[in-house]
Amino acid sequence: MSARILDGRTLAAAVRASVKETVARLAVRGVRPGLAVILAGDDPASRAYVRNKSRACEETGVHSVQFEYESSVRQDELLDRVAALNEDPAVHGILVQLPLPKQIDSGKILEAVSPAKDVDGFHPANLGALVSGRPRVVPCTPAAVMRLLEQAGVPLAGRSAVVIGRSSIVGKPLALLLLQKNATVTICHSKSQNIERVTKEADILIAAAGRAKLVGAAMVKPGACVVDVGISRLADGSLAGDVDFDAVKEIAGWITPVPGGVGPMTIAMLLENCVKAASS
Ligand code: NAP
Repeated sequence: MSARILDGRTLAAAVRASVKETVARLAVRGVRPGLAVILAGDDPASRAYVRNKSRACEETGVHSVQFEYESSVRQDELLDRVAALNEDPAVHGILVQLPLPKQIDSGKILEAVSPAKDVDGFHPANLGALVSGRPRVVPCTPAAVMRLLEQAGVPLAGRSAVVIGRSSIVGKPLALLLLQKNATVTICHSKSQNIERVTKEADILIAAAGRAKLVGAAMVKPGACVVDVGISRLADGSLAGDVDFDAVKEIAGWITPVPGGVGPMTIAMLLENCVKAASS
């Protein structure tokens, strides 16, 4: 039997509708949520993400401003911009689009963002809050995955969850969120051996490696919930996830498509974080 599809597009539209209502309520109090985006360099994927984010802001009434820099930008220029945005009362959320050009120390820039305006949840203070089990701003992609699981009613407590990928913005925070829901969590990475042996035991399998079609049907337990975070661009220009969707959907219980799964939900979670920051 074919897996149930976790439809990120439909769920994201519902989240955006709810964000729009909150924006209208805030307007009565004279508050308009504002998101500032810093984009440096000419990475086409980054530009596409930023375009989608500003479109979603427009739809929901969140005010968005964008600061664009050449790939030769200096670290102090970005730090000055972040400092100015930290002080700007019209800006409730600051998003630094990653990756930054290679001469920039991304960690320094992310640390400079005020934790209260860190709508991406990447500041060490916000990541620390997550580790200590008292999350404040949760990183958008892990939050997106958790919302998809929750909406579908996928049982987590006591179940085995395997996350492929250990980045600080996806894999690690996601593993912590699953742990908070009492899943038994394993993290795999590029040095993990016999990864199929681990993934085959997973009731919930999250692929966040950025390796097209890494997860085939032989790696999946029948009935498992498979969430595909990965996005890779293939030679023919098309997008592919980390999961071989056509093969895995025949064995999984639930599955997210790429595109149309985690991606739209990530943007919806960003809007939610921004509106929350403006409400507090
Ligand atoms: P990243 O920083 O490159 O991390 C990738 C992780 O995957 C690393 O921990 C790496 O292990 C691990 N990995 C790589 N190849 C592997 C393999 N063959 N087997 C097992 N583990 C492997 O990437 P990221 O920022 O976390 O993003 C991951 C993917 O999600 C990318 O495709 C990205 O485009 C996508 N993404 C999607 C969204 C969305 O909204 N849908 C948002 C963010 C990211 P090591 O640590 O050992 O190197």
